[in-house]
Amino acid sequence: MSAWRTISLWMDQLDETLTARPALEQDLDVDVAIIGAGYTGLWTAYYLKKLAPGLDIAIIEAQTAGFGASGRNGGWLMGNLLGEDRLLAGLSPQQRRASFDLLHSIPDEVEIVLEREGIDCDYRKGGALYCAARYPEQETSLRRYLDELHAQGLTDDDYRWLNPEQLAQQLRVAKPYGAIYAPHVATIQPAKLVRGLARTVANMGVKIYENSPVTHWRAGSLRTDRASVRSRWIVPAIEGYSVTLPPLGRYQLPVQSLIVATEPLSSATWDEIGLNRGQAFSEFSRQVTYGQRSADNRLIFGARGGYQFAGKLRQNFDLTRDEVELRRYLFGELFPQLKNVQITHAWGGNLGMSRHFKPHMLCDRANGIALSGGYGGEGVGASNLGGRTLADLILERDTDLVRQPWVLPDGGIHALRAWEPEPCRWLGYNAIIKSFVHEDQTLANPATAPWRRKLASSVAGFMEGFMH
Ligand SMILES: Cc1cc2nc3c(=O)[nH]c(=O)nc-3n(C[C@H](O)[C@H](O)[C@H](O)COP(=O)(O)OP(=O)(O)OC[C@H]3O[C@@H](n4cnc5c(N)ncnc54)[C@H](O)[C@@H]3O)c2cc1C
Repeated sequence: MSAWRTISLWMDQLDETLTARPALEQDLDVDVAIIGAGYTGLWTAYYLKKLAPGLDIAIIEAQTAGFGASGRNGGWLMGNLLGEDRLLAGLSPQQRRASFDLLHSIPDEVEIVLEREGIDCDYRKGGALYCAARYPEQETSLRRYLDELHAQGLTDDDYRWLNPEQLAQQLRVAKPYGAIYAPHVATIQPAKLVRGLARTVANMGVKIYENSPVTHWRAGSLRTDRASVRSRWIVPAIEGYSVTLPPLGRYQLPVQSLIVATEPLSSATWDEIGLNRGQAFSEFSRQVTYGQRSADNRLIFGARGGYQFAGKLRQNFDLTRDEVELRRYLFGELFPQLKNVQITHAWGGNLGMSRHFKPHMLCDRANGIALSGGYGGEGVGASNLGGRTLADLILERDTDLVRQPWVLPDGGIHALRAWEPEPCRWLGYNAIIKSFVHEDQTLANPATAPWRRKLASSVAGFMEGFMH
């Protein structure tokens, strides 16, 4: 059995042998060399090849297509970007609306490609439910968040309030206080998407080399242990692995996200819980949770993360008992009937976080470098936008995509904001997370005095301010 099968439930479910494509053994001369066969690299190759079939494109992958976050994620395909409120703040109301429409259409664009290319990845556009489901303050912050969204020109068609009864028509949690429903979100089987994309671009003539870690790169060339590639364009598409190729790690740090999957649950259990249209759901806290009901009726539940000193990559994602049980506890609070259910898969992955907690797409024409990343745990949809945008930038197409505020058209990578040196990052991360955990624990205890609740939220809000 291939070791890649153990990466995640999703890779385990693939109906293929996971045999590696050939490694890079001989020097190459190409038009575009892409480092990394995850969504970003593959979408970039796809749109480039569609627009300019004559381009000679090679993808050099350290392991296999989908080894990274693209084969491990929670399967939320979102029509938005992390930090979009800050990114769009300077635009006129009309421009802002146009940018929101562009973002909201990401899942539809992906669906069009899936149909055109015959990629089956269990795509279901059921929207997302952001739930107040643990303590009453979540309702207040969710309602405030909805007001902020509407103040930016978004409407009920984009984000709308669901009271507990309306929420119960879609999802039954133990303590429902209300939810925001957002329709522009689909759920997918992530590994089927990344492997389907790899097959598609390979059929279009893109050369994919696997088991070929890039050890050095600079403008115009890259090297593995066995061969070199010369190329007009280099596209490093290694998101959470940026620390492996300096200087990219200065701008994008690896953080870890961990997920568990239950055994397939009975239809009687799902009748109690809901989620019968492929909806994604999360619990609205400063700490991340994300879930979906998989096409084969498992609960997929991801929560919380990690950061290792000096931005070290986590290599071993055999979760400890404590890591698994924390996630069981968290979903058990939402769905008490699942407290003792069997967890069949537990895994995680490294994802890329930029210093300003918002994505970037850039094109350094003079040096022939194009880059898209910093998705911060929201890269399934964003990487499709990134691939389309990099293709237009490289081909000098004057489209709406290249005029968005997340695009730095002529910026070198040094235009990005660098992370602070250690130990500042590690201390900062831990202080912020501790304040978030303290807030959640304080507010989840109904016996906590009101002043303590307020204090815990104020401290966590203050700490959150350091992230931007
Ligand atoms: C556990 C988890 C859950 C997530 N859930 C969601 C979600 O539900 N929704 C969402 O929108 N986002 C989610 N994300 C984030 C999302 O998965 C990523 O943002 C996205 O997959 C990034 O794609 P990518 O192609 O840029 O990077 P990756 O998929 O990480 O691909 C990078 C590739 O580069 C290769 N590589 C690394 N170093 C080298 C090298 N030196 N030489 C050659 N190749 C190299 C790696 O092997 C890898 O295949 C999640 C991430 C994780 C880890």
